This record gives sequence, C-alpha cells and structure tokens, in this order.
Amino acid sequence: MKTVLPVTQSFRWISETQQPFLIAGPCSAETFEQLEGTAWALTKLNVNLIRAGIWKPRTRPNSFEGVGEIGLEWIKEIQQKTKIPFIIEVANPRHVESALKHNISHFWIGARTTANPFAVQEIADSLKGTQTNILVKNPINPDLALWIGALERLNNANITNLAACHRGFSFYGKSPFRNPPHWEIPLELRRQLPTLPLLCDPSHICGNTTLIKEIAQQSLDLGFNGLMIETHLNPQNALSDSHQQITPLELKNLLNSLIFKHSDSQDDLYKRQLDNLRIQIDELDDNLLEIIAKRMQIVKHIGLLKAENQVQYFQFERYKELLESRLVAGEKLNLSSEFTTRLLQLLHLEAIQEQAKNE
Ligand code: PEP
Ligand code: MN
Repeated sequence: MKTVLPVTQSFRWISETQQPFLIAGPCSAETFEQLEGTAWALTKLNVNLIRAGIWKPRTRPNSFEGVGEIGLEWIKEIQQKTKIPFIIEVANPRHVESALKHNISHFWIGARTTANPFAVQEIADSLKGTQTNILVKNPINPDLALWIGALERLNNANITNLAACHRGFSFYGKSPFRNPPHWEIPLELRRQLPTLPLLCDPSHICGNTTLIKEIAQQSLDLGFNGLMIETHLNPQNALSDSHQQITPLELKNLLNSLIFKHSDSQDDLYKRQLDNLRIQIDELDDNLLEIIAKRMQIVKHIGLLKAENQVQYFQFERYKELLESRLVAGEKLNLSSEFTTRLLQLLHLEAIQEQAKNE
C-alpha cells in the first residue's frame, strides 16, 4: 500500500529559522517548579516545543512512572504564561482525552507504543476530528513497515500534522549507545515519504550526555529537520533518565556548537567539481554492477557443478576463507573491515540463494 501523507501542513514541524526545529524539556514532569523553571529557561533558546513525560513507560515496575493528571494542570498554566506549546507522550485514548481537556495539542507516540498496532489504532481513533500534531517515534525494533503503519493509522484518522522521530533501536549486547541508531531506516522512510518531517532524539539514542553532540550533528548532516533533546535543571537528581539529560545552559552551548549546513549549493565551481566527480562515480558503479553480474554467472555455474556432484551448496570452510582473505585485501585498500564484511556477506548470501534454486 502506498501512503500519501499530506504535504500542506507539515511545515508545522519545520523551523522557520536557521536553527532546526527544536523540542527540549525534561524526560518527565516532576514538580510545578521544575517544569516552570525549565520552560522559562528554554524560552531564551527559541525552542519550538517543550517536552515533558506525564505518564512514563518504564521497563521495570517500581520506577518513577510519571506524575499523571496533575502534571497536565501544570502544563496548562505554564503554556499560557510562556506561550510555548508543550508536547507530551500519549499511550492510550485516556491520555489523549485528559490532555485535550488541558489544551495540549502536540503528542508523541513512544517507541513501545509504535510497536503495538492495537494501541496505535486506539489512539488514532481517539484523535479523529481533533486538530492535533503527532510525532511518531520509531518502534523499539528496527521495523520500518511498523513505523510507517503507525503513521498510516494516524493519517487514516485524518491527522495530517505528522512527523517522525528517530530514537534508535533496542538491541541486546554491548554498544556505546543505549539504543543504537540505524540511519538507513529513517533515510528509507524519507525516501518513501519525502514530505514527512523527520526529527532525531539523540538523548534516547545515546543514553548518556557525551555522545549527544555527535549524534545531533550527524542527524543534521543527514538532512533531519529537527531535534528532541532531554533537558533538566538538575540532571543528577532527575527522576528518570538522569544519565542522558543536559541543563538548559548545556543545551545552549550544544546549539551554538552545531553546524547547520546547506542542503545544496548553487556555487558554479562547486557544481562543476561535483558533476565531474559524480560522472566518475556513475562510471565506477556501472563497472561494479557488470563485475557483480559476471560473478553471478560463475556462481550459477558452480551451483550446477555442485548439484551434478551431489555436493551441498553451502560450504563453510570456503565461506570462512573467502571472508578472511577479502578482509585482508580490503584493509590494504583502506576499506573498513565492517564494510568489507557486510559487502561480502551480502554477495555470498545472494550466491547461496542462487545455488539453492538447483535443489
Ligand atoms: C521519552 O521520550 O521519554 C521516551 C520514553 O521515549 P521512547 O519512547 O523513545 O523510549
Ligand atoms: Mn526519557
């Protein structure tokens, strides 16, 4: 199914200034004073929306699960004073209903909720006929169809002010990131839905404060339209996600240090140089495809030979040897071992699938 998301109002998620569309604020609303203090500090940084979790989806019970309804009263009052709208997470129709009663019209759908089509459908139904703006975080698992499915459910409920947010993906094992980014997934989302504004949440990707700048810059370099960054007056004492929140002053320094590059340049010399280099890349890609096609012809031949001789098409020793020797060759050519491994695995998988056809 092809989704056509409306273009007309998507500018709501795109900053009109040089700065990216910026959402900042605490992981969770904790007290009225905390929320009001943060909001006033953020008014000086031209943030577009202030975030605050009211109901927190926590992995383990007995963690702080949010202040609940009382936080909506705080938001209503603070929004009125600072004139900056808040955005909160909603995970079910009750959340939507209560929030709407408190003049909140920007919601994000959290990663755990996006992964659940029943929950998304219920939220979409409860939003029908409202003038709301919805930011859909990627599902916790790297599944683009699930992410698009959530956007479609909202779109089918006539919610047109949609945006997507990359917050990284769950994994098991060691990583410098809490939720490692998979840039290829939001970029494929952009290819399929080019008019949909795309934001990045470096805080939940990183899970710490040291990598936030790098991830924020990377997302901007990849053409993301905005950032969501958790900001707390006193991060050490935050009731949730204390390791990844930064102070408003740190946010200010971060924004000053980010480089906002142009999406393109009309400079003549630049364009000529680029065209020239691209012609070379195009030629090389043609050669590359021809070589891969030749390789596949030989793969087919080997497949027939194995079949005739009743030999299994997957031969582990050969696979191991191939990978190891190419890794050494790749290294000598300055290719990263990660890239060479992925490329060879891809080629080998295709070869195996081709040879399996003889079975
Ligand atoms: C959050 O933004 O506080 C949050 C819980 O995010 P996620 O759904 O990305 O985990
Ligand atoms: Mn958080």
